[in-house]
Amino acid sequence: MKIKCNFCKTEYTLSKIPAMPVKCAICGHTWMVKTPARRNQLFVFLAALCALLSAVIFSVVVVTHYRKSPDKDPLVASIIKTELAPDGNGVNHFIVSGILENRTEEIYGAPNLIIETYDANGKQINSSEQFNPPVTLLDAGARAGFVYTLRAPSAGVKKIVVKLGDFAK
Ligand SMILES: [Zn+2]
Repeated sequence: MKIKCNFCKTEYTLSKIPAMPVKCAICGHTWMVKTPARRNQLFVFLAALCALLSAVIFSVVVVTHYRKSPDKDPLVASIIKTELAPDGNGVNHFIVSGILENRTEEIYGAPNLIIETYDANGKQINSSEQFNPPVTLLDAGARAGFVYTLRAPSAGVKKIVVKLGDFAK
C-alpha cells in the first residue's frame, strides 16, 4: 500500500500496515498508519462530495492568490531541519532536509538546488554546493522532500540557505 506524509507529502510504499507509528525520513513527522476501512455507498458519496467542494474552495483561494502576485516565486525551496553527522575522519558535515514546492497551478521542471553557507558575520563561507532536485517535474501544488549532505565541513557555519537554479515551465 502507498502512504503519504501529511506534513511534507513524501510518498512511501509499505508491504503491510505497521503496528507501530511510522516516522517520515524527510521531515520527521510521526503518525499511525490506519487500516483502510470498508466504506459503505453513502460514505463514499459524501466523501466525494466533500472532496469536490474543497477542490472548488481551494481553486478559488489559489486563483485569488495567484492574481495578486502572478510572477512571484512560483517555486519555493525551504529548509526544514539540519543535522550534524561526522565523516570517516570525524569531521562534521551538515545534513540538510527540506521541501521543494510548486505554488502555482502549472507544471514546472524542477531546478537544481543550491546551498550556501554563511558565518556569524553574515559572510558566505565555503563554495556554493549544487545538487539534483528530488524529482524531474513538479505538478501544480506539488511538494517534494530533499536531503543533502554538504561536502564542506560544518566548522564556522552559522546560517544555511537553499536557492533554486534555473528552471522552466
Ligand atoms: Zn514528511
